Amino acid sequence: MTAARCRATSQVRPEVMDFSPYSAGLSIDEIKERYGLDTVVKLASNENPLGASPLVQQVIRSHAGHVFRYAQSGNPRLARSIAAFFGLPAECVVTGNGSDEVIDLLIRAKARPGTDNIVAFDPCFSMYTVLARLCGVELRQTPLNADFSFNWDALVGLTDENTAIVFVTTPDNPSGYTPPVEEIVTLAGRLPEQCLLVVDEAYMDFTGDRDAYSMLPRLMQHPNVCVLRTFSKSMGLAGLRLGFGAMQPELADYLKRIRPPFSVNILAEHAGMAAMEDTVFYNETLRVTAEGREYLNRELAALGCTVYPSRANFIMFQAPIDGGELHEQLLRRGIILRPLNKGYGLPRHMRVSVGSRQENSAFIGAFREIMHAR
Ligand SMILES: *Cc1c(COP(=O)(O)O)cnc(C)c1O
Repeated sequence: MTAARCRATSQVRPEVMDFSPYSAGLSIDEIKERYGLDTVVKLASNENPLGASPLVQQVIRSHAGHVFRYAQSGNPRLARSIAAFFGLPAECVVTGNGSDEVIDLLIRAKARPGTDNIVAFDPCFSMYTVLARLCGVELRQTPLNADFSFNWDALVGLTDENTAIVFVTTPDNPSGYTPPVEEIVTLAGRLPEQCLLVVDEAYMDFTGDRDAYSMLPRLMQHPNVCVLRTFSKSMGLAGLRLGFGAMQPELADYLKRIRPPFSVNILAEHAGMAAMEDTVFYNETLRVTAEGREYLNRELAALGCTVYPSRANFIMFQAPIDGGELHEQLLRRGIILRPLNKGYGLPRHMRVSVGSRQENSAFIGAFREIMHAR
């Protein structure tokens, strides 16, 4: 028997057979090696431009000796801190190994494979697509408007009595579009009664105006809504994996029961609490991001790009030259951006994360050089 014919290893669920994985941004090491570069600027995954908070680093060092312990199952202390920080009842908070895990738990808890459906815009954050497929749940999508704003009527039109979840990302990824929160409140009132509205607010901090855009302060008035937040972006903890969902206690209880007990590790737990305390780092992150976003908007427009208005820590744009060629030319110069062909189906669009002042100007400098060489 050859290995390829071994049914024990070759026979998997039909959903898994042709599975295409989440396509992540290129890593710094890959690009250094491929092009023989010493320094690489990565503006591909919307990571924090200031790195990790010094307080977080100190707390991680001081807990290094505790990693032989399991974290307390369900991270009740962390959940209480998150609840206090965001002004929520503690029983509404479900922590996860990144908000990716909470998305997975929500789909598995709510959607019946082969029966239920999930509704989202197209394009959407590719974890919704990947995890719906893995769970064997139909994903229904409706295109964004041409300017990347949201067509609510079309979204509601896809829902029926078997719609388990509607996903909305605000600010949206990859466009940066952010609807007024009143529109999300209206959407919540228009959905079928069994349907959960999941509002993914991964980038909400960067809007600087939660009253105008966030559902989190309004959560208690809308029992059919769940809000997702992450520590990966504004808090600078992408590599440690920490996110949470805020939802009605009854649903939170179901998620906590099915959640693997130790998926949020002991360092992520301590780091998360320290990140919430470090308001200096957090405020500086927001300041540097707002300033960098202004700069990139201006410079990209001056280079002849179509720039989409963003309230997040990234900007989507369309270059005056072929997107694939621009991406390649930037890589040669050690700048990693996110092309949006794979995963998002936008062959002509690129997404750039707002970096530090030096990173932003290195990117713009390289872009200018590419344009002048033509
Ligand atoms: C980055 C991002 C997240 C966060 O994912 P984590 O698993 O918490 O790192 C969630 N949703 C969207 C739309 C994102 O872009």
